[in-house]
Amino acid sequence: QQQQTYEPLTESTAIELAKKLNLFSDQAVLQSTEIGDGNLNLVFRIVDQENNQSVIIKQALPYAKVVGESWPLTLKRATIESDALKIFKDIAPDFVPEVYFADEELAITVMEDLSHLIIARTGFIQGNDYPLLSAHLGKYLARTLFLTSDFGLKPAKKKELVGQFINPELCKITEDLIFTDPFFDAPTNNFEQELLKEVNQIWNDQQLKFQVALLKKSFLTDSEALLHGDLHTGSIFVSEEETKVIDPEFAYFGPIGFDLGQVIANLLFQAIANSEKREVIYNHIEVFWTTFVKDYEALWNSQNEEPLATTEGYLSFLLEKALKDAIGFAGCELIRRTIGLAHVADLDGIQDDTERIEAKRTTLSIGRELIVNRNQFTSIQQLLSSL
Ligand code: ADP
Ligand code: MG
Ligand code: MG
Ligand code: MG
Repeated sequence: QQQQTYEPLTESTAIELAKKLNLFSDQAVLQSTEIGDGNLNLVFRIVDQENNQSVIIKQALPYAKVVGESWPLTLKRATIESDALKIFKDIAPDFVPEVYFADEELAITVMEDLSHLIIARTGFIQGNDYPLLSAHLGKYLARTLFLTSDFGLKPAKKKELVGQFINPELCKITEDLIFTDPFFDAPTNNFEQELLKEVNQIWNDQQLKFQVALLKKSFLTDSEALLHGDLHTGSIFVSEEETKVIDPEFAYFGPIGFDLGQVIANLLFQAIANSEKREVIYNHIEVFWTTFVKDYEALWNSQNEEPLATTEGYLSFLLEKALKDAIGFAGCELIRRTIGLAHVADLDGIQDDTERIEAKRTTLSIGRELIVNRNQFTSIQQLLSSL
């Protein structure tokens, strides 16, 4: 087969590609729709209606779609994404779509179509609940964060993977948009003028910025496990029965609290935006954490590569550290989704101006509390009762 050179797909060239890759039977009549609602990539759904078959082709663009061609972005992220999906699929098969094909040159991942599910953020905003979501995410992260760490892998294998997942350009987006820009008067920031007083307080808060600097340092230097790296509720497909995690193009070896904290923060947006949902969402956060701890502990006791793992106090120290880190990273996510470049529909979708601004003041003040006080928390229940 002839080597293809990169070109962004269109709905019709995506069909040609699907045919060339023999993804469908020769006679199949294919339909193609670009369904990407994301910020960075193209996503095509290719359907053979007659035979009830479909696939997704995701393709990276050489720039960030949300900003335009002025923000170039490496195509290598497509390979990071497909490689991470394959590793996570091996480790946590119930919670990850299958990859059928990937091509580095074309920057594509061909994967299982999950259109029977809904993006968790969208489903929550529509007023639905997904009772199994939190336990599923706790299990998923226990497995991915343990089995890619130095506790689940031999040291040489782990180092080989760290090298495979050096992801500097995508990490830089996180470093800038989560840890840096929201804490300065940076041009990427985007917030309503009603919040100017609160934003100025953040920019002048040395105690807060000191703690953010420490969290950023952890993100830069702590290669604990292969993170998803962008685990907000827009990267999670759900139904009442199923949970599937997509979109790991930000994957790299980082601090495990980062993935854990993004889940907590993105659940908190729902609780803050809808006070009547508070108990349900707080319950999700508690179940998420307790499931993560229970499954991580089981893996720790059964599959540990580290001879020192049996040392008294070691596991509980690490789990407490993960909780404190997760709380701090959650605080950063709460702040950056309120005043930084990329917002969340949970907050921006609140129609009433007063209510929306009030919700955003709450995410900012909770975000600050979580960052500054993170080391005082020793249990998830203590966190929830402090909110
Ligand atoms: P981006 O990296 O640009 O955010 P995503 O991987 O999040 O891209 O995908 C964007 C959208 O495309 C998702 O919100 C979803 O609507 C759709 N999508 C992505 N992957 C699949 C899939 N496997 N099955 C069905 N729809 C998908
Ligand atoms: Mg996405
Ligand atoms: Mg999306
Ligand atoms: Mg993405």
